[in-house]
Amino acid sequence: MILKKIVYVAGGGAAGMCAAIYAARNGADVTIIEKNDQLGKKLSMTGNGRCNLTNMDMKEEYYNSSARGRMKEWLGIYGPEDVISFLKSLGIVVVSDEGYIYPVSGQASSVVTAFTDEIRRLGVKVLFHQQLKNIKPNTSDGVGKLTITTNDSEFNADSVILATGSYSGPKSTMSTGDGYYICSKLGMTVKDTYPALVGFKVSPVEHMPQNGVRAMANVSFTLGNEVIAKEYGEIQITKDGISGIPVMQASREVVRLLAEKKPIFAVLDFYPDYDDNDFAALKNDMLRLKDDRTLMEFLNGFANSNVNAMVLDRMKLGKSMKMKNISDSMVTCILDNYRALKLRLDSDYGYQQSQVTTGGISLGDIGSDLSFLNMPGVFLAGELLDVDGRCGGYNLQWAFTSGSIAGTAASI
Ligand SMILES: Cc1cc2nc3c(=O)[nH]c(=O)nc-3n(C[C@H](O)[C@H](O)[C@H](O)COP(=O)(O)OP(=O)(O)OC[C@H]3O[C@@H](n4cnc5c(N)ncnc54)[C@H](O)[C@@H]3O)c2cc1C
Repeated sequence: MILKKIVYVAGGGAAGMCAAIYAARNGADVTIIEKNDQLGKKLSMTGNGRCNLTNMDMKEEYYNSSARGRMKEWLGIYGPEDVISFLKSLGIVVVSDEGYIYPVSGQASSVVTAFTDEIRRLGVKVLFHQQLKNIKPNTSDGVGKLTITTNDSEFNADSVILATGSYSGPKSTMSTGDGYYICSKLGMTVKDTYPALVGFKVSPVEHMPQNGVRAMANVSFTLGNEVIAKEYGEIQITKDGISGIPVMQASREVVRLLAEKKPIFAVLDFYPDYDDNDFAALKNDMLRLKDDRTLMEFLNGFANSNVNAMVLDRMKLGKSMKMKNISDSMVTCILDNYRALKLRLDSDYGYQQSQVTTGGISLGDIGSDLSFLNMPGVFLAGELLDVDGRCGGYNLQWAFTSGSIAGTAASI
């Protein structure tokens, strides 16, 4: 009689659930231990509740630089097409929005339900309120080469898949970084972690718009004369900072420098389609409107009114000043702000408002099958590892890529 492999999966998020399904489909006896009272809490919040599952434009360079070499191999094993057919096997049909892949349902909750239904159908056991604390070699005569300890129990297993996630996400996701501590006790290298895909507080805040503004702009992050990152898209300017997809995309490059207290500025260009000559011509055209109108009236069609108010407040100019009383050079100076509005960054918004954590378990400790090289039977998956991607489905792709590879390997 062939004995079933006993596989424990610590963490029932996207990566852990995917790993459990692959291991169970491969014939293993699988148990998920989950600290929370439900599976897939973070998954249910993804993509603003819509769940951006993956992206057809999948390249290793969309991941952090320390992961790129390994991502080429892993994405070659399990890429976006594999995610789509896996989801189809769960009954989830997807739709592409310019290559960004979502469930047709438009509901992240339907994805979570599909995973949990399959977990139930496969007979995977799920133990809630179980917090993994430790993994060690099994020294008893019992089955399994590993013993895992939780807050109130001990289990023996042939394989353990660590998929306990990161620090990122709201409190309810229980993203407390337990896995980093457990892995460091096992001798793994934990690279410094920072929130990524995150917005930034600015300083000072006194002229920031109280009601928030969304505007299409280029945003460049600068340190002295060096441009660290540059992105285009819809920027959100809030009463104390900046956010939105382009800011989040650039954040990984910025957070470390900011943590080192480096003077970083976000430079906003509200006219990204204009080259310098076009913008100079536009300013000349605007100068012709110097008449009886007020400054606010003059700027009315030039940018969002909240941006206009912010620019004038920052320059300490009265909104009702008459244009005819303002010199041409001052008008030029006002308009130049829309080309390069500089905001000094103070800090990031923190882990709870970030979508992923950059840093984590070093890939140098991990084999191609996502196993820990120094302890047979231990596998890792998901955000716990030093892999983070851009916004756009890249992080769930990683959860599924690593979950499928680790789940399969752990069950052989
Ligand atoms: C608001 C938000 C929106 C996002 N939107 C997208 C998106 O649209 N597309 C995309 O690709 N990515 C998105 N992401 C990122 C993506 O959700 C994560 O990268 C991904 O869910 C990580 O999966 P994971 O399984 O590694 O970790 P998690 O989903 O965090 O799962 C880890 C699980 O482990 C459990 N756990 C923790 N410690 C223990 C322990 N000691 N014992 C037992 N269990 C434990 C936790 O309770 C949790 O259930 C978003 C993230 C956030 C926060």
